Parts: sequence; C-alpha cells; structure tokens
Amino acid sequence: RKLGYAILGLGYYATRIIMPRFAECEHSKLVALVSGTPEKLKTFGEQYGIPESHRYSYETFDKIVDNPDVDIVYVVTPNSLHRTFTERAAKAGKHVMCEKPMATSSADCEAMIAACKKAGRKLMIGYRSRFQAHNIEAIKLIRDGAIGPVRHISTDHGFTIGDPTQWRLKKALSGGGSLMDIGIYSLNAARYLTGEEPVAVNAIESTDRSNPRFKEVEDIINFQLLFPSGATAQCGSAYTANFNRYRVSGPKGFIELDPATSYQGQAMRTALGGPPAPREPAPQPKNQFSAQLDHLSECILTNREPIVGGEEGLKDVRVIEAIYRAAREGRTVRL
Ligand code: NAD
Repeated sequence: RKLGYAILGLGYYATRIIMPRFAECEHSKLVALVSGTPEKLKTFGEQYGIPESHRYSYETFDKIVDNPDVDIVYVVTPNSLHRTFTERAAKAGKHVMCEKPMATSSADCEAMIAACKKAGRKLMIGYRSRFQAHNIEAIKLIRDGAIGPVRHISTDHGFTIGDPTQWRLKKALSGGGSLMDIGIYSLNAARYLTGEEPVAVNAIESTDRSNPRFKEVEDIINFQLLFPSGATAQCGSAYTANFNRYRVSGPKGFIELDPATSYQGQAMRTALGGPPAPREPAPQPKNQFSAQLDHLSECILTNREPIVGGEEGLKDVRVIEAIYRAAREGRTVRL
C-alpha cells in the first residue's frame, strides 16, 4: 500500500528535489499540496495531477483533517516555521516528516515531539544521508570494526551563500547561519559515524559583520566534539567556503567520503590495512530521497519508530545550542 503525502512549502527543495522522487517510491505517493502562493498550487497541482480539493493554503491547511487521502504532512518551510506546521499537522491527525534542522530551539523540538506523541502520530526528520548508499556503507564498516575504534573524525560542510535577502540569512526564520543549515551535516555525521552523543563542545566563529549577507547570522563556525569513548571530531561549517566531506580514522585505517552528504555523486575512499583505494558501496535499492520517504511510510504501516525520529532532531539542536554557547563564551561547554 502507498501512503499519501502532503508537501507543505513549495520551495526549491520540495519542488526540485523531493517531489520528483515519489515516482520511485514503493510505499509513498504525493496526494496533496500546501502553499501560501496560489500560482504554485496551480502549477504544481497541474504538473502532479493533484485535484483542487487537495490543494491547501496556510489558512485552509487545518481542513486537511477531513482528507483521508493524506497520511503524512512533509514540512519543507524555513526552519522557524517547522514547529507550528508540525503542531498543526499532528492536531489534524497526520504523521509528520519535517526537514532539518528540526527547529530553531530545543524547546521547539520538545514541543513538536510532545504534539506528535499526544496525537499518537509519528514524527521523522529529513536526514536523507542515513538512506544514502555510501553513508550506509561507512556506518557498517565502522560497526564491523574495519578501522578499529573511531578515534578521530574530520568533517566539513559549507557552500557559498548568495542573495543577501534570502530567509537563510534572516535569523528570525533560519535560527542561525551556516551551522543551522549546512554545518548540521558535520554534526549529524559525527554522531551517526561514532554512534555516540558528544559530552563536550568547543567552537570558534569567524563572521564579517560588515558583509551584507552576515548582518544577522554567522558565516564560519568550526567546532570540536568529544565523545564518551574518547573519540573526537573536528567539524567545519561555512557560508563562504565550498566543501562537503568527512574522514573517519581509527588505529586500523580510515574511511573517507568526498563529497559525503550531497544530493548525488558521493565518492568513497578507504584504507583498511592497506594503501588508500576507491571503494564502491553495496548498492541500495532506492535513491536516498525515495528511501527516506518510504521509510516513514513503512514505519507507519508496520508500527515501528523511524531511525531518525524527533529525538534525533532534538539531539542535534541541543548540540547546536551548545556550539553557539561555546563560541559566544569562548569556553568548553559540557553536555
Ligand atoms: P526555499 O526558500 O527554496 O523554500 C522555502 C519555502 O517556504 C518557499 O516556498 C516559501 O514560499 C515558503 N515559505 C513559507 N512561509 C515563508 C516565510 N514566512 N518566509 C519565507 N518563505 C516561506 O528553501 P528550501 O531550500 O526549500 O528549504 C526549506 C527547508 O528545507 C529548510 O528547512 C531547509 O533547511 C530544508 N532543506 C533541506 C535539504 C536537505 O537536503 N535535506 C535541502 C534544502 C533545504
């Protein structure tokens, strides 16, 4: 059976990256659209064959409670709006997929978890890399002991941000700068590669506040994480540098992905007791986006919890808050 998704927020990621991927889903289909822009509802409604009865504005969105075709609402708006739309979706009896970062504060994340729990509905965060072949392979190699215990992770995520008027550069909508948007991939990777939760955080920020793009949010914020096993992570996050990579090292070797968490084109190199060499991961049945969409549907159909539920989003946001604090106060923050 295919569960029905409503996509809420018809911006770049929703319309260019996610919506085309329903075609390869086994358990998910696109059945409804929610947008503040009538023209987008018309254009994408016609393109995807969504009838007018299944097109909602933000004002009419709560009527989705009466639409039995919709099982899941996928929230793809600017970050600070994730909470309210998740709460409204849960109240309407729908399961929720919410984009990263889950919200702009841990208090908001906790409220979202509580709202879905109260409604008896599942909540998953759009951590697509957990469904991507190279990342799955890296995690498996580490868990199988291929490099021995993880001792060090070095990871960087950043891109050159353009238009100074975009929501990503408005703190009220984004919650913060590169860390909220792209550095979160460094953090999340360090957590899923070690399989541990950090216990201490250091951070240093570098932002040119005279640059019109960075009046409200940070540009570079680099951070270090200490894990309970003694493993460490050196993490980069930037809005003025292009990189997307990680290397995980242990006494027996290393695993490197560059790019690591991009939409496509991942490349892996490993040194597992011999010289470094390219490696192809075990093939996965679906691309990361379709697999992510289907994971929530399958969890609902079989009553399991998603591997990246609300708690996973909350854990990242808690560390993000600690990273900002460490940078601001110039000290190690213990978690
Ligand atoms: P975008 O600007 O392209 O789209 C955002 C959409 O939200 C737009 O359609 C906009 O009209 C709508 N919106 C609703 N209320 C708004 C308001 N008050 N102000 C501004 N826009 C409003 O952004 P995007 O790149 O699609 O990002 C949307 C979300 O998806 C973000 O949370 C982002 O972090 C996440 N995202 C995730 C990935 C990923 O790989 N998982 C990639 C890109 C974006």
